[in-house]
Amino acid sequence: MSIKSALQSIDKELKPFGAQLVAVSKTHSTSAIKEAYACGQRIFGESTAQELVTKQESLPNDISWHFIGHLQSNKVKYIAPFVQCIHAVDTEKLLQVIDKEAGKNGRKIDCLLQLHIAQEESKYGFSPAELRDFLASGQWQSFKHVRIIGLMCIASNTENENRLKEEFELMASLLKEFKAAYFAHAPYFKELSMGMSGDYLLAMHYGASLIRIGSAIFGSR
Ligand SMILES: *Cc1c(COP(=O)(O)O)cnc(C)c1O
Repeated sequence: MSIKSALQSIDKELKPFGAQLVAVSKTHSTSAIKEAYACGQRIFGESTAQELVTKQESLPNDISWHFIGHLQSNKVKYIAPFVQCIHAVDTEKLLQVIDKEAGKNGRKIDCLLQLHIAQEESKYGFSPAELRDFLASGQWQSFKHVRIIGLMCIASNTENENRLKEEFELMASLLKEFKAAYFAHAPYFKELSMGMSGDYLLAMHYGASLIRIGSAIFGSR
């Protein structure tokens, strides 16, 4: 399938849910990105700072770049001048560094807090209990150059649909809980970044609003 026809059919699937597509272009060439761009796609996701910086320099500047991978604090400065959204914020320290680097650039960067709810797939992310403690501590409220827009997870890599449903359901209920407790007056806190090529249709039924799809658009890596 061509990039164009893949994007067209995914757009059709996302539309009824009002979900946004993050086209995950990691490891794929800038010419593949240009092809998707020519079809109207503007949000692209990358998972290493170096690759993101290199690609950003040679591509149109109305692209909205999302960083979706694990981000080390010492790499934040390279992407802070232009990145729109950082999906996998998993420590208070990382959020603090993003705040500092965004401030240096006179910017505000959208962030999602990553939850670790999958069975063993990733070692990164807050547990629900850790995230409750983090939000209760209130430290994050002093960061003026980040905007926490929601939650992110990488679901278990499994064929077990019930397991996936449980994880997506938990994410939706945590978003609701934190919305009521801390973000009732913050209309931007509403995003659920979940769903990849293998599970996005299911994820959308549980409220996924940012869908990260790579191989179903660009082919296997
Ligand atoms: C690579 C990656 C994706 C896209 O995965 P596909 O299975 O190719 O759709 C989504 N999210 C994260 C965090 C990734 O690293």
